[in-house]
Amino acid sequence: MAKKQFKTESKRILDLMVNSIYTHKEIFLRELISNSSDAIDKLYFRSLTDSSVTLTRDDYEIRIGLDKDNRILTVSDNGCGMNAEELEKNLGTIARSGSLDFKSSIEDKDNEIDIIGQFGVGFYSAFMVSDRVSVVSKAYGDDTANEWVSTGADGYTVHPCEKESAGTVVTLHIKEDTDDVKYSEFLDEWKIRELVRKYSDYVRYPIKMLVSHSRKKEDSNEYETVMEDETLNSMIPIWKRDPSEVTDEEYASFYTEKYYDFEKPIKVIRQKAEGTAAEYIALLFVPSHAPYDYYSKEYEKGLQLYSSGVMIMDKCKDLIPDHFSFVRGLVDSSDLSLNISREMLQEDRQLKVIAKALEKKIANELQKFLNEDRENYEKFFKVFGTQLKYGVYSDYGIHKDLLQDLLMFSSSFEDNLTTLKEYVSRMPESQKKIYYASGESVDQLKLLPQVEAMKNHGYEVLFLTEDIDEFALQIMRNYQEKEFANVSENSDDLSSDEEKKALEEENSKCADLFQFMKDTLSDAVTQVRFTNNLGSHAASLANEGPLSMGMEKVLNRMPGMEEGVKAQLVLEINKDHAVADKLKELYGSDQVKLADYTKLLYGSARLVSGLSLDNPTEFNDLISKLM
Ligand code: ADP
Repeated sequence: MAKKQFKTESKRILDLMVNSIYTHKEIFLRELISNSSDAIDKLYFRSLTDSSVTLTRDDYEIRIGLDKDNRILTVSDNGCGMNAEELEKNLGTIARSGSLDFKSSIEDKDNEIDIIGQFGVGFYSAFMVSDRVSVVSKAYGDDTANEWVSTGADGYTVHPCEKESAGTVVTLHIKEDTDDVKYSEFLDEWKIRELVRKYSDYVRYPIKMLVSHSRKKEDSNEYETVMEDETLNSMIPIWKRDPSEVTDEEYASFYTEKYYDFEKPIKVIRQKAEGTAAEYIALLFVPSHAPYDYYSKEYEKGLQLYSSGVMIMDKCKDLIPDHFSFVRGLVDSSDLSLNISREMLQEDRQLKVIAKALEKKIANELQKFLNEDRENYEKFFKVFGTQLKYGVYSDYGIHKDLLQDLLMFSSSFEDNLTTLKEYVSRMPESQKKIYYASGESVDQLKLLPQVEAMKNHGYEVLFLTEDIDEFALQIMRNYQEKEFANVSENSDDLSSDEEKKALEEENSKCADLFQFMKDTLSDAVTQVRFTNNLGSHAASLANEGPLSMGMEKVLNRMPGMEEGVKAQLVLEINKDHAVADKLKELYGSDQVKLADYTKLLYGSARLVSGLSLDNPTEFNDLISKLM
């Protein structure tokens, strides 16, 4: 029979397995059992809607067989099985979702341990302990069975064979012992029992094995050895075990295996609701990093839904609100019917009650996380904070109360992130508003003249650098009744009444000068005026109207905004700067020069605000001319 070749990527992983020096080769059993359990899940799912599947829940089992003399270990199941085509597709190609990352780290041989430890490696791990693997499988509903055989990376064959009932039998020919590894252990009952307990205890289907017991013979004092079926796993899922008995490592490995993540979760949340409107257990995880597609349309949120220990839906969207869409995990409720359809679930009152309670629980747990483990919370926030801000902004701000205390921002206070609560607690009595500046980067914002002025005045400024930030704050309007205010619109807050009055007088005195300057700049600004609060800087741009410079940029990047929106800008000149006197003087003596100066001031003010120049060539020429 002609040998077929593995797909390149699979072949490399297989090679790695065959030559593995990994010390925990024992995980192969966990991988095979988990495949069997998945296969049974699939058939069980089908039985919910397909009446031709006549098995009932109690019929399903996974079975381990040992034949010490022939060095053979088998793992069988009566799950969905595979036809010839599926055998080829599934076992000739690595299917694991983490396999792409896997590929990139596989170049490094020293990384082997990490790779295997982190990803689990699926079916191919069988080759860590065996030199020949056979998979006999019959798809449910098919008449014919097939066998897939491989002795390693040189390829595999598939041919028809006999098998009575549907399901899969994986047969491993266990390697001979070496000086370093006692492969024979995997043919011992006690070892297998230990491994099942260790790795697969919560598998929901019985894992059975014929086990030798010694028993007293009837009517005699002699003992005999009999073989009896024993179920090796307790089948109690991890979320149903007493939380005080489950270790962090167990939760972490449950998570990494079940949700194909290679990193431990940064936070585990468990909730048990009893005697309330809905009874359920939830086991939730906050990942340490965002899935590669998290901030894209492709990402699907959702929790697994179980009814009394049996999964009835893989991604139940309705259980988790968008602002917590990064949360993964499951909910198990005895209140839900096993045969409930997707459509019915959407309307299900019970489900809505659970979703509401989960949302609250997650918010509380994140708050606790922030209060008790700041360092990790900041890590979390750097990964998923954007989503929380979107949450504040979406649905016209109705989630504000739930989310506002979970937000963090950079600020002029110190280099760390701050919460709004902390900001407010630091406000001096004279400060009435929460000030922010928005732009591309913290470094740029730190240098903004208005920020400098605020700081000199003892007022802290939040630095908004993400697109969503300013939109979120605008929807919130205020925090603890303190209004949010953009520094570039509110610089006169820093002036005393007398200073304001003096400024007003100066402004009206120079009305003609400003009109001239405004005409020079035409539509670029709505106004030119003096201001008090630019510190050592000569000029700056301020904002008027509902749209800020930052929002202008964000909106204009959005698809469908080709027309462009424009923030209303005001060119502000520092009243006390030498430039102010120069402008006044030029208005009387040299209006051509005044026009050039005006354009220069405007251009450099744009640059300071992080905006690009309208006309860089003209700006450049003006500088040369001046020099
Ligand atoms: P993974 O389980 O991560 O998808 P594996 O390499 O372990 O990757 O398995 C590849 C595929 O082979 C599985 O996705 C499944 O479709 C199929 N498979 C493996 N074992 C079985 C089995 N016992 N019964 C049915 N299908 C199986």
